[in-house]
Amino acid sequence: MSAIVAIVGRPNVGKSTFFNRLIQRREAIVDAVSGVTRDRHYGKSDWNGKEFSLIDTGGYVLGSDDIFEQEIDKQVQLAIDEADAIIFMVDVEAGITGMDEDVANLLRRVDKPVFLAVNKVDNAKRAEDAVEFYALGLGEYFTLSSINGSGTGDLLDALVKVL
Ligand code: GDP
Ligand code: MG
Repeated sequence: MSAIVAIVGRPNVGKSTFFNRLIQRREAIVDAVSGVTRDRHYGKSDWNGKEFSLIDTGGYVLGSDDIFEQEIDKQVQLAIDEADAIIFMVDVEAGITGMDEDVANLLRRVDKPVFLAVNKVDNAKRAEDAVEFYALGLGEYFTLSSINGSGTGDLLDALVKVL
């Protein structure tokens, strides 16, 4: 079985844009388990010849990304349980939000590789703005633009090394 990589983060940071850029084919879409909204999108991807499954987390059951903080925590917990590596996505345009800090608090205790991905870095000026994300206490980060594709290669190089 190929390794599982989960993309987590608050709504609107660009998780689905990144996911859609990477996947070649979709797998199961919704898996409803009583009491838990196990709504996630699965896809297959590969990089440098290494295949992996990618999970996009989000508020699909509610039909929008307007989901509660509690729901995000649940999604992160599920990702921690089922993934071999986690991509934690944040948004340089918005900067650090309270929800980002909550997710970071959960991920700091995790004994699995976590990649902090600062998205929406569409130009060099925004790369400078990304330094504020050191404050999340997760160490080094990767900058990328899921829209134009810049930076995604460096993140994927590092990711497949740990799979
Ligand atoms: P999600 O809620 O985390 O899945 O975020 P989405 O993938 O739905 O994206 C939310 C919004 O951010 C959309 O309007 C995207 O077009 C936009 N977005 C995603 N990635 C980028 C990026 O790299 N740069 C910019 N400028 N916008 C982006
Ligand atoms: Mg989404």
